[in-house]
Amino acid sequence: MPSPAQSPARPVIAVMPLWDDDRQSIWMLPGYLDGIAEAGGTGIVLPLTTDPAALAQLLALCDGVLLTGGHDVSPALYGQEPIGPSVVTCPLRDRMDAAVLRLAMDKDLPVLGICRGIQLMNAALGGTLWQDLPTQHPSSIDHHMTPPYDRVAHEVRILPETPLHHLLGHDTLGVNSYHHQAVRDLAPALEPMALSPDGLVEAVYAPNQRFCWGVQWHPEFSHEKDASSRALFRAFVDACR
Ligand code: MN
Repeated sequence: MPSPAQSPARPVIAVMPLWDDDRQSIWMLPGYLDGIAEAGGTGIVLPLTTDPAALAQLLALCDGVLLTGGHDVSPALYGQEPIGPSVVTCPLRDRMDAAVLRLAMDKDLPVLGICRGIQLMNAALGGTLWQDLPTQHPSSIDHHMTPPYDRVAHEVRILPETPLHHLLGHDTLGVNSYHHQAVRDLAPALEPMALSPDGLVEAVYAPNQRFCWGVQWHPEFSHEKDASSRALFRAFVDACR
């Protein structure tokens, strides 16, 4: 018989902590937890640790993993040097997020990666990133919008026959956009689900996993206004049941 931890009424989602360099402290944006709660789950912010025993213990308590936004992914993860001072990293988060992703994929736990989360997934699984879009991939598309962040910054084309297309049922989607890095070479384990007009991969999934999705936009900023953001959180939380 499945234990309550395996099929709870409200799945428990491990939320990767954000890091504040000035305060030398973890912190959290309420939107991640609110988006999960509104979709019927309970988010729990993990401590910032790379201790394998602690991470295994924590993940055993959880039904899914949310890879949050935040610092740039260290180019070291994909074998490059930082191109300049615009690349601001948190190596401890890189190590923790990559370890948690590996544990979750080993257990086939649902994973949703948001912004840094999609980038981390891609880098940890063998892909590469644009380190700085304005210098490496200049375009007229506004990927780095100003507040408020619950507005549409650009459209993405949702690729047919992908889980995202099945979920939303349409070919285009207006998204917010607050990122200066992005997927460059896609990791072998990932497939694209959405492309920006300037050709960036803005959503991915791992076909070999039950639910392992990443999006480059920010449903945590837009879930109150935007039904597709709520649908994304709901698909994720439902997969965690
Ligand atoms: Mn974008």
